[in-house]
Amino acid sequence: MGADVAKPNCWGADQLPQKIGKRDILARNYNSAGQDSFFLTTMGLPPADSVDNIVPADLNIPDNYVQHTLKTQKSRGPVTLNNLFSELNYLNCVILLVTPLLGLIGAFYTPLQLKTALFAIFYYYLTGLGITAGYHRLWAHRSYNASLPLQYFLCFLGAGAVEGSIKWWSRGHRAHHRYTDTDLDPYNAHKGFFYSHMGWMLIKPRRRPGVADVSDLSKNPVIKFQHRWYLPLILIMGFGVPTVIPWLLWGDAKGGYVYAGVLRLCFVHHSTFCVNSLAHWLGESPFDDKHTPRDHVITALATIGEGYHNFHHQFPMDYRNAIKWYQYDPTKWFIWSMQKLGLASHLKTFPDNEVRKGQLTMELKKLRQTQEKLAWPSDSNDLPVVSWESYQEQAKKRPLVLISGFIHDVATFINEHPGGAHLIVKFIGKDATTAFFGGVYDHSNAAHNLLAMKRVGVLHGGMPHGLDEKGVPPSQRLKIARYTELSSPYASSAAYSDGEGILG
Ligand SMILES: [Zn+2]
Ligand SMILES: [Zn+2]
Repeated sequence: MGADVAKPNCWGADQLPQKIGKRDILARNYNSAGQDSFFLTTMGLPPADSVDNIVPADLNIPDNYVQHTLKTQKSRGPVTLNNLFSELNYLNCVILLVTPLLGLIGAFYTPLQLKTALFAIFYYYLTGLGITAGYHRLWAHRSYNASLPLQYFLCFLGAGAVEGSIKWWSRGHRAHHRYTDTDLDPYNAHKGFFYSHMGWMLIKPRRRPGVADVSDLSKNPVIKFQHRWYLPLILIMGFGVPTVIPWLLWGDAKGGYVYAGVLRLCFVHHSTFCVNSLAHWLGESPFDDKHTPRDHVITALATIGEGYHNFHHQFPMDYRNAIKWYQYDPTKWFIWSMQKLGLASHLKTFPDNEVRKGQLTMELKKLRQTQEKLAWPSDSNDLPVVSWESYQEQAKKRPLVLISGFIHDVATFINEHPGGAHLIVKFIGKDATTAFFGGVYDHSNAAHNLLAMKRVGVLHGGMPHGLDEKGVPPSQRLKIARYTELSSPYASSAAYSDGEGILG
């Protein structure tokens, strides 16, 4: 299929070759397309002479692009029962809804042979890798370099997954990463599981995806080849090859067509669609929780290793999705094997030190939540400052004990004291600091933590030095503080009330 048969509107505006100075790039960016159907974008090529001077689609992007576009760009209204039929993308509906139906009907009339079943699973993995190792990690993210034979291999396999051309797919995916969870993300997860899974393809796009540059892909001969021959390629790789191989090798053409062709295609579709739906919905956020992507082994199992999506959105140019050796990421294993065979190189990995910072931040966030759920002692800034005389006076009315400059009301604890009530009674109205810290008994951390909860005042001039950890209960010597909270609450207090003080 050559350029001469391409329909004029088969190309999205952002897929047109862009010449410097040819026209206003800024205006074009605002109008850059993505309204294209799943399929039609992939036919035809730009005239050969216009490919050389391609410039990035976002070369002159304004600083306020996202807010400006979201505010001013028209979007199609909501899909309702009244406008449903005019809003459907019929080609995608046929591909995504009629294909599984035909597969199920075919399966009803076609016995499944073991060899055909095994071949269908094998072909599922191969065509799935065309998307995950090819479309996704190689072309959309440039996470490694592939030799020409490997590129053609992945380009053929990717065509067998029938998910649009490399260029169309990568353009949408780059917008997904760049504008995650906004309306400029073509499969915005905030629009619901079904929408991000496949709903976005069944209806006309509600607005153009945000601008994303694919000028690097426009220059790639393998991608140009796939664009030119996309329709024959999907027929050959999607249905021809999986029919012919079982036919020639064990005489099961019909089974090959139904199971390794049609039904395998449905599995590849929904497997890879899960990256946009399930991977933004199920699991944990061990690296960052700003957006919806999540890590989960079930998603990984369903998507040939693309389930560590929280990691992937943080470090999209890393050729791995799973960073631990035991996590399920066959796409990573495939790319690594290709490197060992000399077919891939420059496998990119994000610096481990920075990956671990993300993990640490998320762990600290969780610990901070635990910290906030606990009750903590009052610190010297919150307590009344009491003179020695006032302390003596008030200790006659209730059991007050001075330790490390803090006055504690131990009324509820005297009879609970493991060492016996007499040891506490003996120190009422006195300074028990030395006795508490080893003079009589070197109290446990738990005892010190509990003691701090009984603070009712601070002795004027009696606070230990701010760096003396005796004044800080062990549970507060290491704590999680936001950067705005870093001034020490235990620095010696300048607060002074009236010398008399009021004990609560
Ligand atoms: Zn995602
Ligand atoms: Zn990605």
